[in-house]
Amino acid sequence: MSKGPQRIRGTQDIWGEESERFATVAETFDRIRRLFAFQRIEIPVFEATEVFARSIGETTDIVSKEMYTFPDRGGDSLTLRPEFTAGICRAYLSEGWQQHAPIKLATHGPVFRYERPQKGRYRQFHQLDAEIIGSDSPLADVELLVMADQLLGELGIADGVTLQLNTLGDAETRDGWRTALVAHFEAHRGNLSEDSLARLDKNPLRILDSKDPRDRPIADSAPSIDDYLSGPAAEFFGRVTEGLDAAGVAWTRNARLVRGLDYYRHTAFEFVTDRLGAQGTVLAGGRYDGLIEALGGPFTPAVGWAAGIERLAMLIDKPARYEPIIAVVPDQPYLEAEAAALAHRLRAGGVAVDIAYRGSCKKRIEAAKKKGLDAVLLLREQSQSPRLHLTCYSGTDEERERLRLDIMSVTSSLYGGLSGKGT
Ligand code: ATP
Ligand code: MG
Repeated sequence: MSKGPQRIRGTQDIWGEESERFATVAETFDRIRRLFAFQRIEIPVFEATEVFARSIGETTDIVSKEMYTFPDRGGDSLTLRPEFTAGICRAYLSEGWQQHAPIKLATHGPVFRYERPQKGRYRQFHQLDAEIIGSDSPLADVELLVMADQLLGELGIADGVTLQLNTLGDAETRDGWRTALVAHFEAHRGNLSEDSLARLDKNPLRILDSKDPRDRPIADSAPSIDDYLSGPAAEFFGRVTEGLDAAGVAWTRNARLVRGLDYYRHTAFEFVTDRLGAQGTVLAGGRYDGLIEALGGPFTPAVGWAAGIERLAMLIDKPARYEPIIAVVPDQPYLEAEAAALAHRLRAGGVAVDIAYRGSCKKRIEAAKKKGLDAVLLLREQSQSPRLHLTCYSGTDEERERLRLDIMSVTSSLYGGLSGKGT
């Protein structure tokens, strides 16, 4: 390994097949968010620290120990976004997007958390994110869940992933359930982890979400929210599950599921797989009706989800797209400039072309094969005039024929026909 600067722990340099997988996940998401009429937005990578502290909640893992927070040169406290929801809600308020409510927004990009790096867990990772802000309808929850389901389906991983669904109820439900949870956890105080003892005062629900083995038996035997569900909260949940059933989205109830953020209400969900070891949650979200008020805005119901691109990319099959790239190779030095011009013309006509900058004809063909290019288009001298010859290395007969036609449509007026074998 070189002695020069190294990548920071928990970050990644992504290329080759991994990068193809990554792009497939992002492109599929972008296609599907369009089908569901979500607008694509971009928001800053950093925000004032209070944006996250106030909206995610001081007692969450993210705010209490995972944020990259630093003073800038002007002395303001800034934080690299650990997730998208808070920044999107800040934008919703500060940019006056209220006038468009209910508004459906989607984005994806890097987020940052100071965590212990391991497989599927990084310090800079990437999320897909979808939010519906300004609707209190269970149809919004259903729409987001159906969208997530279609995404996983089109990525080809729906079979190995289950939707776990819960309700966290309304304010009345939470008050009753919270009191019962506190009583239960107080009774087991001596056996709880330090983290959970701290949560007990501020946000006892989050103990249910603890990954500490000391907490698990106590969390698993805690009172169920079902015994405290108010009439309206039960009705809301019923409409969500009806909507999912009508759309044919499979789900299982997990009455212990809570979300990391403090401001969740009603619907909470995770899409979970057992194919990634401990890092099994690929997509998660819920309704966060309390969040925008916490940021200083008016009461605004909202619901959304985020998914880890890296975890999805690990699950999908190797992308088998056939978007051929060809090499244009001159077989005589004097044809060099003409070959380069031909390459540019093909690109302008929509054919992807790579060229070598030096080397013999034979070396260039070998290099093209080694790089995994799909075909070589040879520009060669024949009876004193340049002719084209195509050799394909990959693709079905049909795909080769399509490539040949694409090339012909650009080149036939200049070079006439296109000879070639394997096409
Ligand atoms: P976990 O329980 O795995 O820590 P989380 O509840 O902190 O996840 P969310 O805040 O809900 O995760 O983020 C949404 C999704 O982002 C997760 O479901 C997961 O797929 C992905 N994700 C979260 N943290 C990381 C990370 N450090 N590295 C890679 N992906 C991550
Ligand atoms: Mg986490």
